[in-house]
Amino acid sequence: MTERVGIPRAVDSAGRTFDRTAIERVPQPFDGPLRCAGCTTVVQAVHGYPRRNGTLVDPYYRLTHRTEAPHDPHCRYDFDARVGRLHEEHRSALTKDGDVYELRLPETDTAPPGAALLADTRSDGRDRLTIHPRRGHTLAPVLSAAAAIAAMISTYDDDPQARARFAARWKGERIAWEDFYFDVAQDARRLARVVAGRDHPVAVSGHVKRVGRTARDTADVVELATGRGVTHPPNGRWIHVRLMSKAPGALPREVGQRVLGYGRWEHFEPEDSDNHYVNLWVDHASSVTTTR
Ligand SMILES: [Zn+2]
Repeated sequence: MTERVGIPRAVDSAGRTFDRTAIERVPQPFDGPLRCAGCTTVVQAVHGYPRRNGTLVDPYYRLTHRTEAPHDPHCRYDFDARVGRLHEEHRSALTKDGDVYELRLPETDTAPPGAALLADTRSDGRDRLTIHPRRGHTLAPVLSAAAAIAAMISTYDDDPQARARFAARWKGERIAWEDFYFDVAQDARRLARVVAGRDHPVAVSGHVKRVGRTARDTADVVELATGRGVTHPPNGRWIHVRLMSKAPGALPREVGQRVLGYGRWEHFEPEDSDNHYVNLWVDHASSVTTTR
C-alpha cells in the first residue's frame, strides 16, 4: 500500500491560508481549528517524520476522520476522489496497477519508409530515433492525460507521495513519473541527465522562449525557457531545450505559449560550443501540443 497523499494547505480560524512549511514553525503560526483549504472539513497538522528506511515524510494536513469527516464533494484536495475522476476521464490512456496509475505510451517508433528524407546527420553517426505514430493513431489522449496528471501533481505542490501514484509504461517497462514528465523551467538539468542515460520517450512542458531556424536554415527551431543559466553538471555546458522540425507548420510559433513535446528526445554537444542541446525532432504535429 502506498502512503496517503496529504492535504497541502489549510485555513485557520482567522481565514489565513498556510502551506505545509507552517507546520514546522515554532510556534505554529495558525490559530484555532484548521480546515482544508479546498473545502470546509476540519483537518489536523502532522509534523514531518523519518520513515523506517531513513527517507523523510514532509509535514502535511490530514482529515480528522476519513469516513465521518471527509472532504466536501469536488474538493480540489480530495486526492482519492480526484484521481478516480482523472482515471475515468482518461481511461483510454491510463491503467490502474495496484495504487499506481500508468500512462500507456504508444510503442510504434520504427521509422516508416521515406523517413530518411527527414533524417538529420548526428555528430556521433547514430541513426536518429523519432516517434512515428501509426497512421490514424493519435497521441492526443496520451498527451492530454499527461498534462492532466501534471496539473494534478502541481495542485499538491509536487508532493512526492502524489507523484509516486503515477508512472508511464513503455515496452513493458515502468518509468517513474519524475523520469517521464519534465517542466523545463525547473527540471532542465534532470531532463538532460535522463535523456543522456535512457532511451524511453519523455514528455517535456515549457514556455516558448524563441522561435527561429537552425544556423544552416535546414529546420525550424523552438527553444523552451529553462531557468537562468542552467548547466549540465558533468561538463558545465549550457543546457538548451529545443523542438526541431523540417515539416512546415509542425511546431508552435508563438513566444510565451506553453507547449508539451513528447517523444524520444536526444542530446547533442557540438564540439565548437559550450552548449548541451536537448532536442526533440518533430515530424508529426501530434507529438507537440499546446497546454495551459
Ligand atoms: Zn477538502
